[in-house]
Amino acid sequence: MFDLTGRVAIVTGGNGGIGLGMARGLARAGARVVVAARNEAKSRAAVEALRALGSDAFALQVDVTDEAAIDALVAETNLRCGRLDILINNAGMNIRKPAHELALAEWHKVLETNLTSAFICARAAYPHMKRAGGGKIINLGSMMSLFGAAFAPAYGASKGGVVQLTKSLAVAWAADNIQVNAVLPGWVDTELTREARRTVAGLNERILARSPTGKWGSIDDFEGIAVFLASPASQFITGAAIPVDGGYSSLA
Ligand code: NDP
Repeated sequence: MFDLTGRVAIVTGGNGGIGLGMARGLARAGARVVVAARNEAKSRAAVEALRALGSDAFALQVDVTDEAAIDALVAETNLRCGRLDILINNAGMNIRKPAHELALAEWHKVLETNLTSAFICARAAYPHMKRAGGGKIINLGSMMSLFGAAFAPAYGASKGGVVQLTKSLAVAWAADNIQVNAVLPGWVDTELTREARRTVAGLNERILARSPTGKWGSIDDFEGIAVFLASPASQFITGAAIPVDGGYSSLA
């Protein structure tokens, strides 16, 4: 039920953080993983780690805000692997500023990286999945898909949009046997949050106090959900937004 042998997966931002955690899960379950990110050195290291887990992984350098590069990524994957079964839209970034200090260019950058990229990647993957008789798309939302954050208006808008995009694609493509779901991580120790943890006064304490588990998430916590949502085990689940947050969003 959880076997991904023979399946091909693109993981955007799969060279570090949560993307790497998810890629490791897929690799362990037997998938061939394509790491799609910008930093070649990080991608090389990720591919090595995935190969050590038995995946015939490789990396393609891509900026997810570049439409032509995304089309090329999907075409190249199909050329080299002959198929595309799983797409994880994980690449993301944040610019931490209150709305009154955020430049329009910064707003666009966050929206393009976190939300528009998921649309472009899913659109590029769709014909391949449809032709193969099905597929799995997993989009990364956030606690900011649910809650507001005074210091991250563009990030929150992008992650709210990711959930609504997920639902729209899920209903549109259900008849093609393509399941589209979102994962909403809680606070996870990665490069994305490390700086905020260091520089935002009281953030670490607030997160620990609110988290029922009393700890930050680790990228290992995302292996299982990736395998579940990429495998036949989740065949009747589509359009869902699943918190993977140690109970953070359940606490009143
Ligand atoms: P990291 O900063 O650790 O990793 C982000 C990844 O995205 C990197 O691998 C980076 O690779 C890639 N990336 C960023 N911009 C681009 C781009 N323009 N083109 C291609 N790749 C890009 O972040 P996390 O692992 O923490 O975050 C992963 C996802 O999870 C994001 O969508 C984030 O919003 C979400 N999330 C994270 C949370 C957390 O607490 N960490 C909480 C909630 C959601 P490279 O630089 O090589 O391109």
